[in-house]
Amino acid sequence: MLGLMQSQPLLISSLIEFAERHHGDAEIVSRRVEGDIHRYTYRDLAARARRLANALDDLKLQFSDRVATLAWNGYRHMEMYFGVSGSGRVLHTVNPRLHPDQIAWIINHAEDQVMCFDATFLPLVQAVHARCPTVKKWVALCDADKLPADTGIPGLTSYEAWIGAQSSDYAWPEFDENSASSMCYTSGTTGNPKAALYSHRSTTLHAYAAALPDVMCLSARDSVLPVVPMFHVNAWGIPYSAALTGCKLVFPGPAMDGKSIYELIEAEKVSYAAGVPTVWQMMLGHMKPAGLKFSTLRRTVIGGSACPPAMIHAFKEDYGVEVLHAWGMTEMSPLGTLCTLKNKHLVMSKDEQMKILQKQGRAIYGVDMKIVGGDGNELPWDGKTYGDLLVKGPWIVGSYFKGEGGDPLVRDAQGRGWFPTGDVATIDADGFMQITDRSKDVIKSGGEWISSIDIENIAMAHPAIAMAACVGMPHPKWDERPIVAVVKRPGTEVTREELLAFYEGKTAKWQIPDDVVFVDAIPIGATGKMLKTKLREQLKDYKLPGL
Ligand code: ADP
Repeated sequence: MLGLMQSQPLLISSLIEFAERHHGDAEIVSRRVEGDIHRYTYRDLAARARRLANALDDLKLQFSDRVATLAWNGYRHMEMYFGVSGSGRVLHTVNPRLHPDQIAWIINHAEDQVMCFDATFLPLVQAVHARCPTVKKWVALCDADKLPADTGIPGLTSYEAWIGAQSSDYAWPEFDENSASSMCYTSGTTGNPKAALYSHRSTTLHAYAAALPDVMCLSARDSVLPVVPMFHVNAWGIPYSAALTGCKLVFPGPAMDGKSIYELIEAEKVSYAAGVPTVWQMMLGHMKPAGLKFSTLRRTVIGGSACPPAMIHAFKEDYGVEVLHAWGMTEMSPLGTLCTLKNKHLVMSKDEQMKILQKQGRAIYGVDMKIVGGDGNELPWDGKTYGDLLVKGPWIVGSYFKGEGGDPLVRDAQGRGWFPTGDVATIDADGFMQITDRSKDVIKSGGEWISSIDIENIAMAHPAIAMAACVGMPHPKWDERPIVAVVKRPGTEVTREELLAFYEGKTAKWQIPDDVVFVDAIPIGATGKMLKTKLREQLKDYKLPGL
């Protein structure tokens, strides 16, 4: 017997329709590439997304055709999120920080038909456009009078002229909720990038889940600033969850430096922000010397790489901001776990709570996770045993676009497919997962594993250290030994010996790094994470002390 409730597909268009009808006057504020501040509402957004849908129809784009963006976080990008997917096409957000050769490769692989880009990326588009034969329309995300001249890009149109010529009357089509809605390529540190192809169903379910109180906890009372880029895993799903909750949205555009972000938070009374640790590092670095405080910011979700406990502590104690540590990946839309306390933890001391809050957190309903050993058998949830982390759920990839890389899933005894995350983790009895390392970054010393994240977190707790990266170096007896590369905070001093002494009592003696290497900067990749592959290259002539 089937249930007798109405059957309605979960479509991205329903999110914008809802926002328009129930939160029509909620604000969307964007810092534009031009530098000025733009303001409008969800009602305006919805109307312009419909104009865009008409423009795509005019181009005779078919269902599931790909429309690409090279764009910052801003209102026009948001219109593309809804106009492209809502009309049945697939939004392909391209990461502009990738190498031009990789960008050309991705555009060709996705067979993008339209490319819409912010003026900032004009040189990039000029470098790749001749290599992208599938693209039949190039659109600059700007006003008609700002359209750059003599670009060499055939038929370049301004977005405003393009959608301005269209009607805002448009009926969003209804189709199968499993249809593709958007795609995102993984940065692919080795081999060619592979694309996660999200569906309307996976995206709307993820949007529901992300808004939950123990997840991102978004509401119509919030003013939300996603610093995490819309070109990387849909800005962690915030654009969709924002439409679902009707929160005020604040987009930083291209100004991602600490000063600009801080000023925007204050000016727009932001209560909630989201970004990777390196971004917050910059912001706190700007605020601390100037003695600045937040007047409205209450919560910030930090993920994408491990958030150092020292940062969680600084946000809470110095600025009164609660950090929600999040873990996920491109293949997971991206949210997998978030770290919030349970009722029974509320009676604990601050220090005990902090130990929990630095973990990557609990699984969100919709994500199932387990850790397995080399034999594929599940390992206990004791908070100590570590193993390969596997996940499954309705917003986790089943396979990659065009079947690249074959079947990525690992089957269990019941034949259910689990996605191997490439992370090594522990899970405690309360279900809190903690990442030990990327499996490729784990340091193997004398048959034991050392967590590079633990070593980095300790260094980051030292007042003179701005950034730390731990890598394993070959050792004839121990296989590998850890060293830590550090960047000092401006105006501070610390010696190698002082930093090594700082480790004493904080970790087992054999896990203390063999050496400290002072560097000017640690290489950062396209998604704001430390690039350890590059760091290892830079240290290729390095020799451990005494060898
Ligand atoms: P890419 O794989 O292209 O670098 P992703 O954003 O998909 O981009 O990266 C996912 C990986 O980032 C995870 O598998 C994990 O290793 C790391 N990661 C994400 N969030 C965290 C976190 N909170 N703590 C530690 N590692 C994290």
